[in-house]
Amino acid sequence: MTVLFDKSAGDAKPKPRHPEKAHKPDNAVLRKPSWIRVKAPTSKGYAETRKIVHDKGLVTVCEEAACPNIGECWEKSHATFMILGDTCTRACAFCNVKTGLPGPVDTEEASKIGMAVKEMGLAHVVITSVDRDDLSDGGAQHFVDVIQAIRAASPKTTIEILTPDFLRKDGAAETVIKARPDVFNHNLETVPRLYLKIRPGARYFHSLRLLEKVKEQDPSQFTKSGLMVGLGETKEEVMQVMDDMRSAGIDFLTIGQYLQPSRKHAPVDRFVTPDEFKAYETIAKAKGFLLVSSTPLTRSSYHADADFAKLQAARKARNA
Ligand code: SF4
Repeated sequence: MTVLFDKSAGDAKPKPRHPEKAHKPDNAVLRKPSWIRVKAPTSKGYAETRKIVHDKGLVTVCEEAACPNIGECWEKSHATFMILGDTCTRACAFCNVKTGLPGPVDTEEASKIGMAVKEMGLAHVVITSVDRDDLSDGGAQHFVDVIQAIRAASPKTTIEILTPDFLRKDGAAETVIKARPDVFNHNLETVPRLYLKIRPGARYFHSLRLLEKVKEQDPSQFTKSGLMVGLGETKEEVMQVMDDMRSAGIDFLTIGQYLQPSRKHAPVDRFVTPDEFKAYETIAKAKGFLLVSSTPLTRSSYHADADFAKLQAARKARNA
Protein backbone atom coordinates (compact mmCIF):
# COMPACT_ATOMS: atom_id res chain seq x y z
CA MET A 1 0.00 0.00 0.00
CA THR A 2 1.29 3.40 -0.94
CA VAL A 3 1.34 6.44 1.33
CA LEU A 4 -1.21 9.15 0.66
CA PHE A 5 1.16 11.97 1.51
CA ASP A 6 4.29 13.14 -0.23
CA LYS A 7 7.09 13.47 2.28
CA SER A 8 9.86 13.45 -0.32
CA ALA A 9 10.37 17.22 -0.29
CA GLY A 10 11.11 17.12 3.44
CA ASP A 11 8.29 19.58 4.13
CA ALA A 12 7.22 19.93 7.75
CA LYS A 13 3.62 19.40 6.64
CA PRO A 14 3.48 16.66 4.00
CA LYS A 15 1.26 17.43 1.00
CA PRO A 16 -1.39 14.99 -0.25
CA ARG A 17 -0.20 13.24 -3.42
CA HIS A 18 -3.75 13.22 -4.77
CA PRO A 19 -5.62 16.31 -3.53
CA GLU A 20 -8.50 15.61 -5.93
CA LYS A 21 -9.07 12.23 -4.26
CA ALA A 22 -8.77 13.43 -0.64
CA HIS A 23 -12.53 13.81 -0.12
CA LYS A 24 -13.50 10.59 -1.87
CA PRO A 25 -14.82 7.75 0.29
CA ASP A 26 -12.33 5.02 1.15
CA ASN A 27 -12.43 1.87 -0.95
CA ALA A 28 -11.76 -1.46 0.71
CA VAL A 29 -8.41 -3.00 -0.23
CA LEU A 30 -8.53 -6.69 -1.13
CA ARG A 31 -5.86 -9.01 0.25
CA LYS A 32 -3.42 -9.95 -2.51
CA PRO A 33 -3.36 -13.59 -3.62
CA SER A 34 -0.16 -15.64 -3.39
CA TRP A 35 0.71 -15.12 -7.07
CA ILE A 36 0.99 -11.32 -6.60
CA ARG A 37 3.42 -11.25 -3.67
CA VAL A 38 6.93 -9.92 -4.38
CA LYS A 39 10.07 -9.77 -2.24
CA ALA A 40 11.34 -6.50 -0.74
CA PRO A 41 14.17 -5.01 -2.85
CA THR A 42 17.52 -5.68 -1.16
CA SER A 43 20.08 -6.60 -3.85
CA LYS A 44 23.37 -4.81 -4.56
CA GLY A 45 22.25 -4.10 -8.14
CA TYR A 46 19.08 -2.49 -6.83
CA ALA A 47 21.11 -0.21 -4.55
CA GLU A 48 23.45 0.76 -7.43
CA THR A 49 20.57 1.66 -9.74
CA ARG A 50 18.92 3.63 -6.94
CA LYS A 51 22.14 5.58 -6.37
CA ILE A 52 22.54 6.57 -10.03
CA VAL A 53 18.88 7.60 -10.30
CA HIS A 54 18.93 9.65 -7.10
CA ASP A 55 22.42 11.17 -7.55
CA LYS A 56 21.37 12.51 -10.94
CA GLY A 57 18.06 13.79 -9.57
CA LEU A 58 16.07 11.67 -12.04
CA VAL A 59 12.47 10.55 -11.65
CA THR A 60 11.36 6.99 -12.41
CA VAL A 61 7.90 5.59 -12.87
CA CYS A 62 9.16 2.53 -10.98
CA GLU A 63 9.17 4.57 -7.76
CA GLU A 64 6.38 7.03 -8.53
CA ALA A 65 3.92 4.30 -9.49
CA ALA A 66 5.06 2.09 -6.59
CA CYS A 67 5.71 -0.71 -9.08
CA PRO A 68 5.82 -4.18 -7.50
CA ASN A 69 8.65 -5.25 -9.83
CA ILE A 70 11.19 -2.66 -8.71
CA GLY A 71 13.44 -5.16 -6.87
CA GLU A 72 13.71 -7.44 -9.89
CA CYS A 73 14.06 -4.68 -12.52
CA TRP A 74 16.53 -2.45 -10.68
CA GLU A 75 18.74 -5.40 -9.83
CA LYS A 76 19.28 -5.63 -13.61
CA SER A 77 19.71 -1.82 -14.00
CA HIS A 78 16.35 -1.69 -15.74
CA ALA A 79 14.70 1.55 -14.62
CA THR A 80 12.02 3.42 -16.56
CA PHE A 81 12.76 7.12 -16.54
CA MET A 82 9.84 9.49 -16.15
CA ILE A 83 10.46 12.84 -17.81
CA LEU A 84 8.77 16.25 -17.56
CA GLY A 85 8.63 16.19 -13.76
CA ASP A 86 6.91 14.10 -11.11
CA THR A 87 3.52 15.83 -11.15
CA CYS A 88 0.73 14.96 -13.59
CA THR A 89 -2.05 17.23 -14.85
CA ARG A 90 -4.52 14.32 -15.11
CA ALA A 91 -6.04 12.49 -12.16
CA CYS A 92 -6.66 8.92 -13.31
CA ALA A 93 -8.42 6.73 -10.75
CA PHE A 94 -5.80 3.97 -10.96
CA CYS A 95 -2.55 5.92 -10.91
CA ASN A 96 -0.20 6.66 -8.03
CA VAL A 97 1.71 9.46 -9.76
CA LYS A 98 1.30 12.78 -7.94
CA THR A 99 -1.44 15.11 -9.27
CA GLY A 100 -1.23 18.90 -9.50
CA LEU A 101 0.21 21.77 -11.47
CA PRO A 102 3.74 20.80 -12.54
CA GLY A 103 6.76 23.08 -12.34
CA PRO A 104 8.82 24.29 -15.31
CA VAL A 105 10.49 21.71 -17.54
CA ASP A 106 14.07 20.88 -16.50
CA THR A 107 16.16 21.91 -19.49
CA GLU A 108 19.07 19.76 -18.25
CA GLU A 109 16.95 16.62 -18.02
CA ALA A 110 17.70 15.31 -21.53
CA SER A 111 21.46 15.39 -21.02
CA LYS A 112 21.18 13.92 -17.51
CA ILE A 113 19.20 10.98 -18.87
CA GLY A 114 21.65 10.53 -21.75
CA MET A 115 24.53 10.32 -19.25
CA ALA A 116 22.63 7.95 -16.94
CA VAL A 117 21.86 5.60 -19.84
CA LYS A 118 25.54 5.60 -20.80
CA GLU A 119 26.71 5.06 -17.21
CA MET A 120 24.28 2.20 -16.70
CA GLY A 121 25.34 0.62 -20.00
CA LEU A 122 21.75 0.06 -21.09
CA ALA A 123 21.11 -1.86 -24.31
CA HIS A 124 17.47 -0.74 -24.24
CA VAL A 125 15.81 2.08 -22.33
CA VAL A 126 12.20 3.02 -21.65
CA ILE A 127 11.22 6.66 -21.29
CA THR A 128 7.81 7.72 -20.09
CA SER A 129 6.32 10.97 -18.80
CA VAL A 130 3.57 12.51 -16.80
CA ASP A 131 0.74 14.17 -18.73
CA ARG A 132 1.56 17.81 -19.37
CA ASP A 133 -1.72 19.33 -20.53
CA ASP A 134 -0.29 22.69 -19.37
CA LEU A 135 2.36 22.72 -22.17
CA SER A 136 1.35 23.84 -25.65
CA ASP A 137 2.86 20.71 -27.24
CA GLY A 138 2.10 18.37 -24.32
CA GLY A 139 5.86 17.85 -23.87
CA ALA A 140 6.42 16.41 -27.38
CA GLN A 141 9.59 18.40 -28.08
CA HIS A 142 11.03 17.33 -24.73
CA PHE A 143 10.54 13.67 -25.72
CA VAL A 144 12.49 14.46 -28.91
CA ASP A 145 15.27 16.18 -26.94
CA VAL A 146 15.59 13.16 -24.64
CA ILE A 147 15.66 10.70 -27.56
CA GLN A 148 18.39 12.75 -29.24
CA ALA A 149 20.43 13.07 -26.04
CA ILE A 150 20.35 9.30 -25.50
CA ARG A 151 21.41 8.71 -29.11
CA ALA A 152 24.31 11.15 -28.71
CA ALA A 153 25.52 9.65 -25.40
CA SER A 154 24.86 5.99 -26.13
CA PRO A 155 24.30 5.41 -29.85
CA LYS A 156 23.72 1.65 -29.62
CA THR A 157 20.95 1.87 -27.02
CA THR A 158 17.51 1.16 -28.46
CA ILE A 159 14.79 3.53 -27.26
CA GLU A 160 11.24 2.77 -26.23
CA ILE A 161 8.86 5.60 -25.35
CA LEU A 162 5.64 5.33 -23.40
CA THR A 163 3.80 8.54 -24.14
CA PRO A 164 0.76 10.42 -22.91
CA ASP A 165 -2.13 10.70 -25.36
CA PHE A 166 -1.33 14.28 -26.57
CA LEU A 167 -5.07 14.99 -26.52
CA ARG A 168 -5.87 18.41 -28.08
CA LYS A 169 -2.16 18.98 -28.93
CA ASP A 170 -2.14 19.29 -32.71
CA GLY A 171 1.07 18.07 -34.33
CA ALA A 172 2.54 16.73 -31.06
CA ALA A 173 2.32 13.05 -32.00
CA GLU A 174 3.88 13.75 -35.40
CA THR A 175 6.79 15.58 -33.73
CA VAL A 176 7.58 12.54 -31.60
CA ILE A 177 7.05 10.00 -34.41
CA LYS A 178 9.61 11.89 -36.54
CA ALA A 179 12.27 11.33 -33.84
CA ARG A 180 11.96 7.60 -34.72
CA PRO A 181 12.00 5.79 -31.38
CA ASP A 182 12.43 2.03 -31.79
CA VAL A 183 9.21 1.29 -29.89
CA PHE A 184 6.25 3.67 -29.54
CA ASN A 185 4.08 2.65 -26.62
CA HIS A 186 0.86 4.21 -25.42
CA ASN A 187 -1.37 2.34 -23.01
CA LEU A 188 -5.11 2.05 -23.57
CA GLU A 189 -5.20 0.95 -19.89
CA THR A 190 -8.77 -0.38 -19.80
CA VAL A 191 -11.85 -1.17 -21.88
CA PRO A 192 -13.84 1.78 -23.31
CA ARG A 193 -16.85 1.24 -20.98
CA LEU A 194 -14.67 2.00 -17.95
CA TYR A 195 -12.94 5.11 -19.33
CA LEU A 196 -15.17 7.68 -17.56
CA LYS A 197 -14.55 5.99 -14.23
CA ILE A 198 -10.90 4.99 -14.59
CA ARG A 199 -9.36 7.35 -17.13
CA PRO A 200 -11.79 10.27 -17.27
CA GLY A 201 -9.44 12.77 -18.93
CA ALA A 202 -8.71 10.47 -21.88
CA ARG A 203 -10.68 9.28 -24.91
CA TYR A 204 -10.46 5.63 -25.98
CA PHE A 205 -10.59 6.22 -29.75
CA HIS A 206 -8.14 9.10 -29.56
CA SER A 207 -5.60 6.82 -27.84
CA LEU A 208 -6.17 4.10 -30.41
CA ARG A 209 -5.79 6.60 -33.25
CA LEU A 210 -2.46 7.82 -31.82
CA LEU A 211 -0.97 4.35 -32.23
CA GLU A 212 -2.55 3.92 -35.66
CA LYS A 213 -0.89 7.19 -36.76
CA VAL A 214 2.53 5.86 -35.72
CA LYS A 215 2.12 2.86 -38.02
CA GLU A 216 0.81 5.01 -40.88
CA GLN A 217 3.69 7.46 -40.65
CA ASP A 218 6.55 5.09 -39.91
CA PRO A 219 5.75 1.36 -40.14
CA SER A 220 9.30 0.50 -39.03
CA GLN A 221 8.52 1.60 -35.46
CA PHE A 222 7.11 -1.13 -33.26
CA THR A 223 3.85 -0.12 -31.60
CA LYS A 224 2.88 -1.38 -28.19
CA SER A 225 -0.05 -0.93 -25.82
CA GLY A 226 -1.15 -2.24 -22.46
CA LEU A 227 -4.23 -3.10 -20.46
CA MET A 228 -4.80 -3.49 -16.73
CA VAL A 229 -7.32 -6.16 -15.81
CA GLY A 230 -9.22 -6.73 -12.59
CA LEU A 231 -11.06 -3.39 -12.82
CA GLY A 232 -14.47 -4.88 -13.67
CA GLU A 233 -14.00 -5.52 -17.40
CA THR A 234 -15.40 -8.66 -19.04
CA LYS A 235 -13.44 -11.15 -21.13
CA GLU A 236 -15.53 -10.17 -24.18
CA GLU A 237 -14.61 -6.52 -23.69
CA VAL A 238 -10.91 -7.38 -23.48
CA MET A 239 -11.22 -9.39 -26.70
CA GLN A 240 -12.90 -6.42 -28.41
CA VAL A 241 -10.00 -4.17 -27.36
CA MET A 242 -7.57 -6.73 -28.79
CA ASP A 243 -9.46 -6.54 -32.12
CA ASP A 244 -9.39 -2.73 -32.03
CA MET A 245 -5.65 -2.81 -31.35
CA ARG A 246 -5.02 -5.18 -34.23
CA SER A 247 -7.09 -2.92 -36.54
CA ALA A 248 -4.72 -0.09 -35.53
CA GLY A 249 -1.73 -2.31 -36.38
CA ILE A 250 -0.42 -2.62 -32.81
CA ASP A 251 2.44 -5.13 -32.59
CA PHE A 252 2.85 -5.82 -28.90
CA LEU A 253 0.19 -6.20 -26.20
CA THR A 254 0.87 -6.22 -22.46
CA ILE A 255 -1.76 -7.27 -19.92
CA GLY A 256 -1.25 -7.10 -16.14
CA GLN A 257 -3.26 -7.12 -12.93
CA TYR A 258 -4.44 -3.73 -11.63
CA LEU A 259 -3.22 -3.11 -8.07
CA GLN A 260 -4.88 -0.44 -5.95
CA PRO A 261 -2.28 2.14 -4.79
CA SER A 262 -4.37 3.42 -1.85
CA ARG A 263 -7.85 3.39 -0.31
CA LYS A 264 -8.67 6.51 -2.36
CA HIS A 265 -7.94 4.83 -5.70
CA ALA A 266 -10.32 2.71 -7.78
CA PRO A 267 -10.93 -0.62 -6.06
CA VAL A 268 -9.70 -3.93 -7.43
CA ASP A 269 -12.79 -5.73 -8.70
CA ARG A 270 -11.03 -9.10 -8.62
CA PHE A 271 -7.67 -10.78 -9.00
CA VAL A 272 -7.45 -12.42 -12.41
CA THR A 273 -5.88 -15.87 -12.11
CA PRO A 274 -2.61 -16.89 -13.81
CA ASP A 275 -4.61 -19.34 -15.97
CA GLU A 276 -6.86 -16.53 -17.20
CA PHE A 277 -3.77 -14.46 -18.08
CA LYS A 278 -2.45 -17.43 -20.04
CA ALA A 279 -5.80 -17.70 -21.87
CA TYR A 280 -5.61 -13.98 -22.80
CA GLU A 281 -2.12 -14.57 -24.18
CA THR A 282 -3.31 -17.48 -26.32
CA ILE A 283 -6.25 -15.48 -27.67
CA ALA A 284 -4.11 -12.40 -28.39
CA LYS A 285 -1.51 -14.44 -30.23
CA ALA A 286 -4.25 -15.98 -32.36
CA LYS A 287 -5.43 -12.47 -33.22
CA GLY A 288 -2.04 -11.70 -34.75
CA PHE A 289 0.03 -9.66 -32.27
CA LEU A 290 3.75 -10.07 -32.88
CA LEU A 291 4.30 -10.38 -29.12
CA VAL A 292 2.10 -10.72 -26.04
CA SER A 293 3.06 -10.45 -22.38
CA SER A 294 0.16 -11.40 -20.15
CA THR A 295 0.91 -12.26 -16.53
CA PRO A 296 -0.31 -10.86 -13.20
CA LEU A 297 2.88 -8.79 -12.74
CA THR A 298 3.26 -7.65 -16.35
CA ARG A 299 3.71 -3.88 -16.60
CA SER A 300 4.31 -2.04 -19.85
CA SER A 301 8.05 -1.73 -19.22
CA TYR A 302 8.54 -5.08 -17.50
CA HIS A 303 11.28 -7.08 -19.30
CA ALA A 304 11.17 -4.45 -22.06
CA ASP A 305 14.80 -5.10 -23.03
CA ALA A 306 14.38 -8.84 -23.56
CA ASP A 307 11.00 -8.26 -25.20
CA PHE A 308 12.52 -5.86 -27.72
CA ALA A 309 14.82 -8.63 -28.94
CA LYS A 310 11.81 -10.95 -29.17
CA LEU A 311 9.89 -8.32 -31.16
CA GLN A 312 12.69 -8.02 -33.67
CA ALA A 313 12.93 -11.79 -34.03
CA ALA A 314 9.16 -12.13 -34.44
CA ARG A 315 9.07 -9.47 -37.18
CA LYS A 316 11.95 -11.14 -38.99
CA ALA A 317 10.25 -14.53 -38.80
CA ARG A 318 6.96 -13.09 -40.04
CA ASN A 319 8.60 -11.24 -42.95
CA ALA A 320 10.48 -14.38 -43.92
S1 SF4 B 1 8.12 -3.07 -14.50
FE1 SF4 B 1 8.64 -1.06 -15.37
S2 SF4 B 1 7.90 0.44 -13.88
FE2 SF4 B 1 8.00 -1.56 -12.84
S3 SF4 B 1 10.03 -1.59 -11.87
FE3 SF4 B 1 10.21 -2.60 -13.86
S4 SF4 B 1 10.89 -0.94 -15.23
FE4 SF4 B 1 10.08 0.04 -13.40
